[in-house]
Amino acid sequence: MTLAITVIGTGYLGATHAACMAELGFEVLGVDVDPAKVDALSRGELPFHEPGLPELLRRHVDSGRLRFTTSYAEAGAFGDVHFIGVGTPQRPGQYGADLTYVDAAVTALAENITRDALIVGKSTVPVGTARRLAGLVQEHRAHDVEIGLAWNPEFLREGFAVKDTLAPDRLVIGTDDDGRAEAVLRRVYAAALETGTPFISTDLETAELVKVAANAFLATKISFINAFSEVTEAVGGDIRTLADAIGHDARIGRRFLNAGVGFGGGCLPKDIRALQARVSELGLDRSMRFLGEVDEINARRRDRVVHLAEQMAGPLAGRTIGILGTAFKPDSDDVRDSPALDVAARLFNAGADVNVYDPQANANAAKRFPRLNYVDSLTQAATGADLVILLTEWAEFKALAPADLAGLVAHRRLIDGRNVLDPATWEAAGWDVAALGRRAVPDGSAPETAPRTAAPSLEPLPHRPGGPRDLMAAGTAH
Ligand code: NAD
Repeated sequence: MTLAITVIGTGYLGATHAACMAELGFEVLGVDVDPAKVDALSRGELPFHEPGLPELLRRHVDSGRLRFTTSYAEAGAFGDVHFIGVGTPQRPGQYGADLTYVDAAVTALAENITRDALIVGKSTVPVGTARRLAGLVQEHRAHDVEIGLAWNPEFLREGFAVKDTLAPDRLVIGTDDDGRAEAVLRRVYAAALETGTPFISTDLETAELVKVAANAFLATKISFINAFSEVTEAVGGDIRTLADAIGHDARIGRRFLNAGVGFGGGCLPKDIRALQARVSELGLDRSMRFLGEVDEINARRRDRVVHLAEQMAGPLAGRTIGILGTAFKPDSDDVRDSPALDVAARLFNAGADVNVYDPQANANAAKRFPRLNYVDSLTQAATGADLVILLTEWAEFKALAPADLAGLVAHRRLIDGRNVLDPATWEAAGWDVAALGRRAVPDGSAPETAPRTAAPSLEPLPHRPGGPRDLMAAGTAH
């Protein structure tokens, strides 16, 4: 008999997981506390941008195999397996993860489950959470049924979420029973297992840690190359060449060595902070202290872009700046802790007129920072600009040629915050170009006498001494 699956929390992770489980042939019920989201999904409308997912959602909503509800009673009566995909955002003003959504979901499930079932956590949580939740389940279990709990961290990448869910590069499960949970999860993931996907079965704690370790490593790799960016900028070197050269070493690898304005999004920043907070609780502050530096380097790249803007265009008050990109990465409309939106907001706060274009993320960006001038096209963003800044590497921006913008801008000045354009080509066309880690500020556009702008921030995070100044992340809903 096929398994009935619920997915609790139908955001980026949950909606993708629910649609992909339906694609694999399971009967699926998505559960969310947001009625507007449930209504949209029930109509087959995806409330966010994710390539390939709208088609999947539509197909399985139409077939009746995929449904959505706000009712835990319905979920508890329906599911053999309940996946938890609710948010675990950074706590406002703190480094630790806010676990209230996970706790609420598990509690509500335990109270409503009326048949033997397995709860499987997919949200990213601090180590020790799963074991605590197992206790919560027993405390709140309202019926005489068996409820197991396992942890199955999610590694999907926004922009590739469908592929990553249907064909993951590995499956990790943490369990604490006699093998029953693993047997169920082997049934859920049978299709991927048949194709040889590595399956790592471990304890709850290791499974939780695998996820945060992966994100800590990726963040470190990005900040590593960005730290070298600071050096190549100072001495006149080229960070891309450096990355290419070290990337040929198979032990290092070229991926995640793209220097630029740094990482953001709903995962990496809050996950490395939550990890620091958790190890601090464990009395192990020193183990993850380097992640504070990783975060700092990342924040400094944003400062650097604001500083470069001032150096190139002069005092920012009254300057018109065209910003290309607000999403934290291409092929996503996610602006959580987006470096692009953070930089745009800081330029605005410094007095610039900021015209912003993103192919998908303007609506989300406008909810977070409504005062920027959001426009509908790249050309509108560039029109009249004293400076154009590329901050998200959408294909549309990577394909830009100098001639596309030359007739539009007021001054031919460009900052490539993602190192995706060829500076020489743009310089040959008469542009002043700054590219992070590659080109120092061109001669002739040295700073005017204005002092460095103390970039005011959006949502100040109480600052730990020497801590990151990423201010957008604090307390943002996730
Ligand atoms: P999200 O904010 O897009 O979605 C979370 C959803 O949970 C929202 O729709 C919210 O309404 C819902 N929710 C909150 N409380 C609930 C409750 N009690 N019951 C039911 N629904 C509830 O977040 P996301 O990006 O999907 O991330 C979810 C988790 O997955 C986080 O822990 C995140 O770190 C992890 N994760 C995310 C990604 C990613 O790429 N987005 C990748 C891997 C892991």
